[in-house]
Amino acid sequence: MTFSIHGLAVSRGIAIGRAVLVASSRVDVAHYFVKPDQVDAEIGRVRAGRDAVVDEIHRLQESITRMGPKEAPQELSALLDVHLMLLQDEELVSGVKHWITDRLYNAEWALTTQLEIIARHFDEMEDAYLRERKADMEQICERILRAMKGSQSPIVQPVQRGGRKPSQQDLLLDDTVDVPLVLIAHDLSPADMLQFKQSVFAGFITDVGGKTSHTAIVARSMDIPAVVGARTCSQLVRQDDWVIIDGDAGVVIVDPSPIILAEYGFKQRQGELERGRLQRLLHTPAITMDDQKVQLLANIEMPEDAQVALKAGALGVGLFRSEFLFMGRQGRLPDEEEQYQAYKKAVEGMQGLPVTIRTVDVGADKPLDDSVRDNAHLNPALGLRAIRWSLADPGMFLTQLRAILRAAAHGKVRMLIPMLAHASEIRQTIAHIEKARAQLDRRGVAYGPIQLGAMIEIPAAALSLRLFLKYFDFLSIGTNDLIQYTLAIDRADESVAHLYDPLHPAVLRLVADTIAEGRAQGKDVSVCGEMAGDVTMTRLLLGLGLRSFSMHPAQILAVKQEILRADASKLEAWAQGVCDAEEPGEELSSRPMPL
Ligand code: PEP
Ligand code: MG
Repeated sequence: MTFSIHGLAVSRGIAIGRAVLVASSRVDVAHYFVKPDQVDAEIGRVRAGRDAVVDEIHRLQESITRMGPKEAPQELSALLDVHLMLLQDEELVSGVKHWITDRLYNAEWALTTQLEIIARHFDEMEDAYLRERKADMEQICERILRAMKGSQSPIVQPVQRGGRKPSQQDLLLDDTVDVPLVLIAHDLSPADMLQFKQSVFAGFITDVGGKTSHTAIVARSMDIPAVVGARTCSQLVRQDDWVIIDGDAGVVIVDPSPIILAEYGFKQRQGELERGRLQRLLHTPAITMDDQKVQLLANIEMPEDAQVALKAGALGVGLFRSEFLFMGRQGRLPDEEEQYQAYKKAVEGMQGLPVTIRTVDVGADKPLDDSVRDNAHLNPALGLRAIRWSLADPGMFLTQLRAILRAAAHGKVRMLIPMLAHASEIRQTIAHIEKARAQLDRRGVAYGPIQLGAMIEIPAAALSLRLFLKYFDFLSIGTNDLIQYTLAIDRADESVAHLYDPLHPAVLRLVADTIAEGRAQGKDVSVCGEMAGDVTMTRLLLGLGLRSFSMHPAQILAVKQEILRADASKLEAWAQGVCDAEEPGEELSSRPMPL
């Protein structure tokens, strides 16, 4: 039966495929396809993993038997019997074989997929004792996964099987051809999401998350359709269900009828054609009709993204979120050399164009590690995040500063500091940069000049612009956080997503003043939050005087199209009118926009 689920639109486009349900705790398992001739070896890996766990349990049982009857823990012994029984479970064994043989999933993916199915069956059981066996099943699968760790199969590049994109006709007529897969999870951390960057998945859905949560931002940077905040989606959809993701409307359609499939197939093709048309603007300079030059920059997460930025026509990197180098490493931070190599790679990758490296911004919805989410009672968005975290750990901060300074010897580097609010933080930051330079001097290591910039993303910063303009060469407005902190709305919480309003008059006032004051002092001001890549905002920002936008590479051409069609001088009075309105959102859509 067809039904739809409404969530938040994150990443445009339509994806049509089969659902792959993944529990949040199991996403760090590799997902790739094996070749048909690797199927037997892959099944062998799971078998070997299972045999190793069986041996382990037998050894444990023997050691229990050797204990006297008094010390022998009876409960443990019974539990081990249950585990041995579950290891032979027919549903587990045949299911894993099915995913590997028929779908060519790698062994770990097959095991976790089948575990999801079995876990649901347990959840549906009436008998409480049987329901509790789910935890045992999860435990034995985790143990098999651990046992398999030493036997990774050669990773096959994540590709569409057969190398051919299925046509809509295939989808409608034949359910067994190779089809795209969409990943559905309750939650995905930004680091989890990053893992999927080169993955097999054609789209993503999560139950939780806001539109500018970092998970959503990474999904957007992958330029594939995604919906977050879909509430109970991961419970309502079953493994292998057909699913349509409408990333523009934020809607998920489950089990679509052939007519709906055909309609969305058509929309999907239209979207692809539109993207193709935009490619024609690739080499056109971003200049308004009244000759105002606009700088379009890219936001990147990893050094390799520099290639994507260049291909999209970016004139530089306006935001390199360096924290992604720090995440998902079980707390082991990258050392100076590793960071230096990563920054250098991004700088060289941009072939002489400027690269803005933001110092680490972990905390809030970007934990270093998934296991470090132990302070649920606190409010991490207001806690030790970004520059506060850096200043609290000078050794770590100096390491990063030295690495960035060294990378600056290879090209144009701008250093950007996140979450500043206090004069004391500014002074400490500058002192640390001086110290990092002095340390490099003492070591005789080469480094280059940098421009220093501050993120304006806390209302206190936007209201202390004089201070910021005194110390910094440029400003970058982080609208994602500026909205969060101005409106007291957690950007990662879907339950208050309807109140997260980029067009709130208070937010617009702070953005407008920052642009105006920066320009008045001859300082470069850009916007690097999601607002910069939103085409419905382009003219408003142009009218407010913005001439530098930094966004996901995939958005650059659509924003450029808006710029080419705009007359910036005519937009000025209109933009002020929108900002001064009681409901700027209504004003933006109703007041005729000057062309
Ligand atoms: C922002 O806050 O707008 C921003 C660009 O930084 P981040 O999204 O990484 O917090
Ligand atoms: Mg921010």
